[in-house]
Amino acid sequence: MDFQDEDTPLAAAAAAAVYVRRGLKGTFPRPKETRVITVANQKGGVGKTTSAVNLAASMALAGLNVLVIDLDPQGNASTAFGVDHQEGAQGTYDVLVDKAPIAEMMVEAPKYETLWVLPASLDLAGVDIQLITDVAEADRPFLLRGALEAFLAEYDMDYIFVDCPPSLGLLTINALAAVSEVLIPIQCEFYALEGVQQLMRTIEFARERLNPDLEVSTILLTMYAQTTNLSQQVADEVKAYFGKKVLESIIPRSVYVAEAPSFGESVMTYDPGSTGAVAYLAAAKEIAERGRKGI
Ligand code: ATP
Ligand code: MG
Repeated sequence: MDFQDEDTPLAAAAAAAVYVRRGLKGTFPRPKETRVITVANQKGGVGKTTSAVNLAASMALAGLNVLVIDLDPQGNASTAFGVDHQEGAQGTYDVLVDKAPIAEMMVEAPKYETLWVLPASLDLAGVDIQLITDVAEADRPFLLRGALEAFLAEYDMDYIFVDCPPSLGLLTINALAAVSEVLIPIQCEFYALEGVQQLMRTIEFARERLNPDLEVSTILLTMYAQTTNLSQQVADEVKAYFGKKVLESIIPRSVYVAEAPSFGESVMTYDPGSTGAVAYLAAAKEIAERGRKGI
């Protein structure tokens, strides 16, 4: 059964809910190698965390092994998975500053069998200063990369998503130096492309200086409002700029998507039949099916 083939949104929603309940296991191809995807956009509130969380949740519901690295001191991704990230809680900070192994700091997300989260606590907000005093300048961009290499030498993961803060500071630079794929969520609103050029320049800089494997593999349009022409205009503009990197699946504005994190859930478990969940599931499937170079 393929929920994307249903004709009407209602039929698609009903089909998706059944599909999720029956179990998605085995329905996505497993990548040959771990795909490590940084979700970045220095613009705030464009759907980075929501996308990282719901794509990761979809992959995990499909039976794939997934790790979400929360690199944002706000800890929104940790919250969305119902994972503790009080000040002093272990997580990303310990990995970056104290070289704690990822495997020892990550926690299993409740409600999932194959999803782990490396939580971000507020301590992460002071990480820049800490690293400036503790770590040689040349080593600073590579702290996450070192930790991930050590982790992947011992553990099998299918997908790792890195949720970035809304800035192009040291945390985002660490994320760009550590992965081969960048996913940029773009909100379907006025000014959507503003700042994207700066982001592209930063990615280019990271590719030249820090990580030749880096590429923007995926653009995801978020918070699409069906009732306005503006959303369609923005979608067209983004497609003209990024071409086939833009996923066919577009994430609509949906109140359930916004509501889910306050229950410590992704929308995939909170309301799998909602339009937002259906769209994230379709986006995740597209990412899985076209592969890293399938653009
Ligand atoms: P930040 O830059 O602060 O990290 P972000 O880019 O991670 O933000 P999110 O936190 O994912 O963005 O989303 C911003 C807000 O928009 C949140 O309140 C979220 O619940 C809401 N939101 C995200 N996607 C949707 C959607 N498809 N429909 C409705 N609300 C959404
Ligand atoms: Mg966020």
